[in-house]
Amino acid sequence: MQLKRAFYIGRFQPFHNGHYSVINNIEKEFDELIIGIGSAQRSHEVADPFTAGERIMMIRHSLEDTDILHYAVPIDDIQQNSVWVSYVTSRTPPFDVVYSNNPLILQLFEEAGIETRTPPMFHRQKYSGTEIRKLMLEGEDWRKLVPGPVVDVIDEIDGVERLRNISRSDA
Ligand code: NAD
Repeated sequence: MQLKRAFYIGRFQPFHNGHYSVINNIEKEFDELIIGIGSAQRSHEVADPFTAGERIMMIRHSLEDTDILHYAVPIDDIQQNSVWVSYVTSRTPPFDVVYSNNPLILQLFEEAGIETRTPPMFHRQKYSGTEIRKLMLEGEDWRKLVPGPVVDVIDEIDGVERLRNISRSDA
């Protein structure tokens, strides 16, 4: 029997409970999951503080307590949206279906004739990378918004201190 593989891409800056809940909710619909680490080249920026490797660690440890077999594949951005799908598929294991709520991603995969599905949002206002990075900068409690293993990774790399430092200006 052929395995059904799904693809889910995000920046995961950081990987949070919204991402985790999507993956858990769709788990029964595939055998293996390919997770694209989008904008893999970006790190040490206010909107993209974590490296691709650090985001891989967040995901690997968060999914450790599940039966989900996943491959995390870093995907750098390219200038040409029109060839992005073939760029992605040239770097990932083959997949049958794409899960996303990002309109550009849905558009590009649909135009390429690849099946797309839109999983339900999970408290989007609360579980949002932008909101979590804002809480980090303001010294507010962000820890309850991400899986426990993500807290451990961010603490290990001193991620909040990094975010605060790179958000400062020299003026
Ligand atoms: P993200 O981390 O913000 O989100 C990942 C996915 O999770 C999205 O589908 C999003 O809708 C969903 N999500 C977020 N919060 C959720 C919640 N609370 N509940 C349920 N779902 C939630 O990442 P993103 O910005 O969508 O990442 C897309 C990546 O694809 C980017 O890195 C982008 O640069 C890349 N991309 C690149 C090109 C190119 O290089 N030309 C083209 C298209 C996309």
